[in-house]
This record gives sequence, C-alpha cells and structure tokens, in this order.
Amino acid sequence: MQTIFITGASSGIGKATAKLFQSKGWNVIATMRNPEKETELTQLKNITILPLDVTNPEQIKSTVSKAISLMEIDVALNNAGYGLMSSLESFTEENIVKQIDTNFLGTVRVTQAFIPHFREKKSGLFINVTSIGGHTGFPFTSVYNGTKWAVEGWSECLSIELSMFGVGVKTVAPSATNTDLFSHNSDVKPLPFYEAAERKMLSMIKPASTPEEIAEVIYEAATDNKDQLRYFAGKSSRAIY
Ligand code: NDP
Repeated sequence: MQTIFITGASSGIGKATAKLFQSKGWNVIATMRNPEKETELTQLKNITILPLDVTNPEQIKSTVSKAISLMEIDVALNNAGYGLMSSLESFTEENIVKQIDTNFLGTVRVTQAFIPHFREKKSGLFINVTSIGGHTGFPFTSVYNGTKWAVEGWSECLSIELSMFGVGVKTVAPSATNTDLFSHNSDVKPLPFYEAAERKMLSMIKPASTPEEIAEVIYEAATDNKDQLRYFAGKSSRAIY
C-alpha cells in the first residue's frame, strides 16, 4: 500500500486529493494547521491527520519525522497555499512575506525535511502544486504568481539534483479552481488608484475547475511513471485575461 503526505489538506484541492487517494487504496497522511477542526477526513479509514503549519520550521521537522516513523512515504504533496489579489503598491510587508513564506519557503522547507527519507530509500516523489499563474503573468497577483514561478524554477533545479538518487520532482499547475483560496482578500486594503481595475479583474475570474478535477491530475502525476516535470490541471483560465 502506498502513502501520500499532503500539506494544506483542510480544504479545497488538498482535501479533494486526500479523499481521491484514499478511495484509490492509498494511505494518506493529511496535514493541516488546525486538525481539531477536521470532521470529514477523520471518518475515513487509512487517513492519519497530523498538525502542520508550513511557516513553522520546528513543526515541519517534528511532523515529518512523526510521519516517517509511522510509515514509509512514497509521495510528498506540497499543496498548502495563500494568495492575495491586489496591486503591489497596496500590499503591506506582512501581505508580501506571508505569500512568499507559505507558498515558496513552505514548499522548500517541507521538501528539505523529506529528502533524507527519499534519498535513503532511493525512491519517492515530490509533487508541488503551482498555478497557471506560475507560467503566465496576470495583473494584481504579482507576489502570488512570483511565488509560483519560483516553485516552478526551483522544482526544475531540484528534479535534476535529486535524480541521482531516484527521487522525482513534479509540478501540477491548476487553472482557476472553485476553492476558498482568494477568500483572504480582506487581509489587503486596495489603494483608491487601483480599486476599479481590481474590481473589474476580480469580476472576470470565474473558476471553471473543481478541486476534484485537479486531484485527478495530481493522481496521474503520482502514478503515471513518466519522466515529466510539469502537469497542467483544470480548464484553462487564460482566456479571461
Ligand atoms: P484553499 O484555500 O481551499 O486551500 C489552501 C490550503 O492551504 C488550506 O488547507 C489552508 O489551510 C492551507 N494553508 C494556508 N496556509 C498554510 C500554512 N501556513 N500552513 C499549512 N497550511 C496552510 O485553496 P486551494 O485548494 O485552491 O489551494 C491549494 C493549492 O492550489 C495552493 O497552493 C494554491 O496556490 C493552488 N492553486 C489554486 C488555484 C485556485 O484557483 N484555487 C489555482 C492555482 C493554484 P487553512 O484551512 O488552515 O487555512
């Protein structure tokens, strides 16, 4: 029985992926910031829930070592993400740092913690959830998109670096998906010069994909045995920009 370790499994794509892999007969280690709030995944067999905030390096070390002590891990899915849509000028230092800390540094930290396990067993696969925005530029998501471009480039470097140990790295780039991702936008106060353009941009985003569709592509990336770095998931959102 194979095992997947998932970050940000409390909602959206992470939760849909946990459910899909469980239904396919995998063990799932579903990590989240607030495990005590989870009620759905706790009902399913072969799902272990562990606490994990990807901006907390100490907790990453303890949760990854706990997971490895429970079972051999085959796939580590870096899915946790945080995004804000506004002009760069509107962002506070905290707005900027939180996006980079969660999306890029969180992915780097969790991956680094897993490498010894995968290197020693000479197998294992990292799948990093990026975005269509990690391949294309959109207005008002410069920092978020920047984090996803960073994960794409970093993943390419790492895929070469780890190939000598038989360890794989892949990215899955979803298009606009119906989740709570940008529900945190109240964390930023748009400046008046941009408000109308931002409102227009937000009104144009009509997520056409479901978390379940993205989970299917993550499953394909985990199981197809292809030597392929990049996967695109969901219905393309490019047309709206
Ligand atoms: P959700 O907001 O539903 O899920 C985001 C998940 O990340 C939540 O489980 C959230 O946990 C978790 N998370 C946020 N910050 C942290 C943290 N510091 N430590 C651990 N977990 C954290 O959105 P999605 O499902 O859409 O997002 C999943 C991934 O998909 C993200 O990487 C996102 O960038 C990417 N993506 C999404 C797209 C979309 O249109 N929805 C498009 C392209 C990519 P909590 O419940 O605690 O907040």
